[in-house]
Amino acid sequence: MDIGFIGLGSMGRGMAANLLRAGFRVTVWNRSPEKAQDLVRDGARLVPHARDVAQASGVIVTMLSDDAALRELVQGEHGIGRQLGQGGIHLSMSTVSPQTTQELAALHAARGTHYVAAPVFGRPDAAAAAKLFVLCAGPQAARQAVMPALQAMGQRVFELGEDAAAANVLKLSGNFMLMATIESLAEAMTLGERYGLPRERTAEVLTQSIFPAPVMVNYGRQIAQHAYEPAGFKLSLGLKDADLVLGAARKVAMPMPLAQLVQGRLLSALARQRGDMDWSAAAIGVSEDAGLKPSSSARD
Ligand code: NAP
Repeated sequence: MDIGFIGLGSMGRGMAANLLRAGFRVTVWNRSPEKAQDLVRDGARLVPHARDVAQASGVIVTMLSDDAALRELVQGEHGIGRQLGQGGIHLSMSTVSPQTTQELAALHAARGTHYVAAPVFGRPDAAAAAKLFVLCAGPQAARQAVMPALQAMGQRVFELGEDAAAANVLKLSGNFMLMATIESLAEAMTLGERYGLPRERTAEVLTQSIFPAPVMVNYGRQIAQHAYEPAGFKLSLGLKDADLVLGAARKVAMPMPLAQLVQGRLLSALARQRGDMDWSAAAIGVSEDAGLKPSSSARD
């Protein structure tokens, strides 16, 4: 099966590599073409324009930073929207707003093409190991058609029905819980530290007793050591997700006070030039507020 892939960032590179490994013929485009080098060596075909991907494949995966990049790619003058042939499928895997998904799904439907939303849980190492959790929603026949590709990239696919936006809402709910978890881990460790408990010890005890979830273990280790570079998920993108959560909540007149607190934390980290660090670097702000100077790889 031919498949196109657009967006070869930290996540996209591993995902496209797994499609190649599963036997798909993969055509790729990335704004910075040098990121395609390894994939080309492994058999992918690199094309000079995004629209060429649409001309080569009936199914196109996108894994881009944000709503603006995705809209530009679909709706722009040279975008894929106009090039994807009748019955073609846009498999949109970025974390974007439900509103963008609704608009793009309508635009595709009007052109006789299909939009499937399939955002993911898992960091770049999980993407490279085909261990992503995929949340998939959109027209049933299109979902069925892309299932082999999703299975090649993930360990489990959760199907969420015909309304593509449902997948984005659930993805944002999960990311809200992740950002709240980072804040709570940082506050718990910093409280312990102010009373003389080593951060590692707090993380170890909490994650080996009442909070054994992988997410607690992994972020717990990072936050205990103040080890935020290289970024698995850039803090600037984490702030984008906090904005998306609050935007989605605002649309339905739902207060999310915890999300607002974390958004402020991420914004303050961005102002302190931490946008390219991992988003768990929000924890540095917790230490600073407590009068502590984080050591290790944390930046002042
Ligand atoms: P990333 O490393 O920053 O990659 C972003 C990709 O988008 C790159 O290919 C970039 O191209 C492209 N891009 C950005 N703006 C563009 C534009 N205006 N036109 C064309 N291409 C553009 O981000 P990532 O970590 O792979 O994340 C990708 C998506 O997955 C995001 O929506 C993120 O929220 C989501 N996600 C990330 C993680 C994670 O842990 N990293 C986990 C789950 C979901 P260049 O290479 O030219 O910059």
